[in-house]
Amino acid sequence: MNVVWLKRDLRIDDHAPLAEAARGSIEDGVPMVALYVFEPEVWNAPDADGSHLAFVVESLAELEIELAARGARLLRRFGEVTEVLERLSREIPIDALLAHEETGNAATYARDLRVARWCRRNGVRFREYRQHGVFRPNPGRDGWAARWETHMRVARVTAPERFVSPDEGAVAAGDAGLWQELGLGDDTRAALRQRGGSREAAAHLRSFLLVRGRDYRTTMGSPVLAWESCSRLSPHLAWGTMSVRRAYQGARRRLGELAELEHTGAIARDDLLAWNGSIRSMLSRLSWHCHFIQKLEDEPAIESSCMARATESLRADGDPVVAAERLAAWREGRTGYPMIDACMRALVATGWINFRMRAMLVSFASHHLWLDWRTFAPWLGRQFLDYEPGIHYPQVQMQSATTGINTHLLAAQAGRGS
Ligand SMILES: Cc1cc2nc3c(=O)[nH]c(=O)nc-3n(C[C@H](O)[C@H](O)[C@H](O)COP(=O)(O)OP(=O)(O)OC[C@H]3O[C@@H](n4cnc5c(N)ncnc54)[C@H](O)[C@@H]3O)c2cc1C
Repeated sequence: MNVVWLKRDLRIDDHAPLAEAARGSIEDGVPMVALYVFEPEVWNAPDADGSHLAFVVESLAELEIELAARGARLLRRFGEVTEVLERLSREIPIDALLAHEETGNAATYARDLRVARWCRRNGVRFREYRQHGVFRPNPGRDGWAARWETHMRVARVTAPERFVSPDEGAVAAGDAGLWQELGLGDDTRAALRQRGGSREAAAHLRSFLLVRGRDYRTTMGSPVLAWESCSRLSPHLAWGTMSVRRAYQGARRRLGELAELEHTGAIARDDLLAWNGSIRSMLSRLSWHCHFIQKLEDEPAIESSCMARATESLRADGDPVVAAERLAAWREGRTGYPMIDACMRALVATGWINFRMRAMLVSFASHHLWLDWRTFAPWLGRQFLDYEPGIHYPQVQMQSATTGINTHLLAAQAGRGS
């Protein structure tokens, strides 16, 4: 049996491991199952949230229907991945484990190493596929943008039409329901957050490219207008209900349609300029998505250490009691600064706020409240429904001026010391 191990890739379209398993089952007669493991170690970490889990559960429910329509089974198991694989391989021997590469946090990195070791020891082929335009290993900064562009332009992997499953009863149904014991608490954002699933993702992409996105370039910074004018694809890209490549190719296609409309004189000049500018801005951001994840992929230590080592103890001089009070006020939206408090409350209630306001919230915490980014980064990650460690940590560090780029802080520190 081949096992497709699903993680942050909860879709059927543009999914190389599923396509490979379908090929194996049709051409070589090797049955396959899709497996999602609810890992206590991952879900009990300080950066995981009940809203993330609820989004995943919704996405899995939709994916299960898509897979079943094509003859495949989705197993939901609970536990440490190698133990789950061990148990599964006793039910039916595993030939290959097929998965996407994941650039996650330190816990998922350690778990991937354990899985690779388990596969080697048990004679299971472990095949990993690139999911985003993130390169492992990264041949270097030079040429990265061209490699990214090439990856995005390659035709998407078509959703398989048919899979072959193991005989009924050969594999247990799974530990459905056990994930509720993960102890993550309620999905406190349930009423106002975005919903999971690839259908939602496709609807967001479509409405952005055809209706909502016209003024994106000029309104994305507005804490009022951005809710509607931004693509809102981020949770879908983070949990993989849509591939970045699909978003990229949809946006490129729309640029082609706009050129056609211009050619036939069927679009007003203002509309054309607005749409072209907005879609190009969105395409740049899709490349930033992978650019930032590549940073964490290349330097995993930035989850816990300052990128610029000289800033490591920059904020170590404060009174811990005062720092704890400030942190609580910031988290609860009661700093007394109306703009900060309104943005924080909106984020906590919905799981989303636009880029500029995220930057402002972090900048305020780091500079005005003089909090070390490590004291709030995991908690902040929990608030974002689109939590993506590879974007989150480099961004938090950038807004906290610990990347070595905003050197005025170093100058300020030197000034204070003298
Ligand atoms: C402190 C801080 C933390 C952040 N943490 C995350 C995070 O955990 N997950 C996350 O997806 N984004 C994060 N961002 C980036 C950005 O704020 C969100 O991607 C964006 O607001 C999501 O909304 P959207 O999908 O409507 O984006 P759009 O503006 O419509 O952009 C389309 C896509 O491009 C990508 N993107 C957009 N802006 C950025 C950016 N500045 N850097 C990298 N990729 C970008 C996202 O995948 C996004 O879905 C963070 C930004 C800051 C300042």
